[in-house]
Amino acid sequence: DTLGSLIDRIAAAHPDRPALVVRAQNVRMSYRQFHAEVECVAAGLLALGLQRGDRVGIWSANRAEWVVLQFAAPKAGLILVNINPAYRTHELEYSLNKVACRALVLPRRFKTSHYLDMLGELAPELADSAPGTLNATRLPDLREVILLDEVPAAGTRSWRQLVALGDAAALARLHALEPELGFDDPVNIQFTSGTTGAPKGATLTHHNIINNAYFIGQAMRLTEHDRLCIPVPFYHCFGMVLGNLACVTHGACMVIPGEGFDALATLETVAAERCTGLHGVPTMFIAELEHPEFGRFDLGSLRTGIMAGSPCPIEVMRRVVSEMHMEQVTIAYGMTETSPVSFQTVPEDPLERRVGSVGRIHPQLEVKLVDEQGRIVPRGKPGELCTRGYSVMLGYWGDEARTREVIDAARWMHTGDLAVIDEDGYCSIVGRLKDMIIRGGENVYPREIEEFLYTHPKVQDVQVFGVPDAKFGEQVCAWIRLREGSRASVAEIQDYCRHHLAYFKVPYHVRFVDAFPMTVTGKVQKYLMRQAMLEELA
Ligand code: ATP
Ligand code: MG
Repeated sequence: DTLGSLIDRIAAAHPDRPALVVRAQNVRMSYRQFHAEVECVAAGLLALGLQRGDRVGIWSANRAEWVVLQFAAPKAGLILVNINPAYRTHELEYSLNKVACRALVLPRRFKTSHYLDMLGELAPELADSAPGTLNATRLPDLREVILLDEVPAAGTRSWRQLVALGDAAALARLHALEPELGFDDPVNIQFTSGTTGAPKGATLTHHNIINNAYFIGQAMRLTEHDRLCIPVPFYHCFGMVLGNLACVTHGACMVIPGEGFDALATLETVAAERCTGLHGVPTMFIAELEHPEFGRFDLGSLRTGIMAGSPCPIEVMRRVVSEMHMEQVTIAYGMTETSPVSFQTVPEDPLERRVGSVGRIHPQLEVKLVDEQGRIVPRGKPGELCTRGYSVMLGYWGDEARTREVIDAARWMHTGDLAVIDEDGYCSIVGRLKDMIIRGGENVYPREIEEFLYTHPKVQDVQVFGVPDAKFGEQVCAWIRLREGSRASVAEIQDYCRHHLAYFKVPYHVRFVDAFPMTVTGKVQKYLMRQAMLEELA
């Protein structure tokens, strides 16, 4: 399949099944309606004069149009570029120019973000251009601006006008073009989370993402009777591939609470829509479980969902199973560059396996763990995880050098993650190579200390990382969020560790904070915490 032929086939098989619910926009579409909308938008994009391989950006939080465009752009042979909705002018300019976007889809505003105003700052020429003729000094490749708003704005077309361009003649052109598209064509430039630095644009093919979505859906036992609540951002592979695309490959329904993540709206959506699945990164599940109104919602319809993106504290996992009824919760490990999943659990895996590991190898892939010299390490020993197979990206868009740093000549993707694989093939992620602390020659894995500190009754959430130290090379630092109403001293935390951990693992620096710096995808950015400590200690 290509994404175009996939949606044709699924919609033909289940025309009357629900495809998409977006509660914040009051949208409900069956697969027949969804398919019709996708076709009109795809034909409309061709009618604008966009050519096969052109880049179309979407700069928006989760909305119905995002999902439609996710299928419409590839159907028209275009490459969809997901632009972080948290970006502001500087980053927008960089990403649009980096991939030479020809068209951009954006809302007028969302909450306090005035997307159209920010675009106008970058491209003041927009106000005096006829739609489709933008020629801005700072955005030289951008021609078309499509606004997700009914109120007209100079230089732009509305989404409704785009849909209307998909008339019979445009549809005929679309259907003539489609057989020429190949499943190995690039279809998507997805940005990584930016957990360890600036996000990188991974270029993925139809084949990459459709298969990954299909296989993860199979591991979750998704069918056309499932209703999956997707509060994770579409901007990221978790939302768009493991959420939206996994649903479509199995004919299930995508249920979207609203634009940004909101714990209350998510709980309300699951209960009101009788969702059978719920996706999230651990921090989202924590926010839902901790919400003061948590107990008010009947979540009895839930059975599954994916928890991925970062390590899940054992306590959280227990509560997700017992209090959110997600007995079949799927743990997955992956990265944007590999479409994303490489390890996953299945419902038959005993719960202990879904706590301590990220499951076993994803179908059709090869993996190996290697040491610094590239030699395969023995079972049970940590090494850098490398993956190879259908899911590995084409490369970082326009960045040959960085692509070669991560994909070697034999097509192995070097993930930068440290893992251990046991006798039964279950994999545990030990941490990121970059985050490993080397203190006085001892390798310290932050994850181990974090797991331990979670057992402290006053600790709500904790992050451990290394900071440079003149004497030891690096020292262990812990940032701690205490439970509501709790107080603790640095000495108390250190004493607690000293009783149970080797001396070199005891956090030397301890800080109590209200929040951690975080990406839009809900991942904690340790590099920013490290920077803050460097400034403080300087
Ligand atoms: P960047 O590459 O921009 O710094 P990122 O690596 O967080 O950000 P993603 O591609 O979104 O960007 O995330 C992939 C990474 O997330 C993996 O390399 C791994 O470190 C982490 N990860 C994903 N799933 C899990 C999991 N189940 N347990 C632990 N870590 C995970
Ligand atoms: Mg990464």
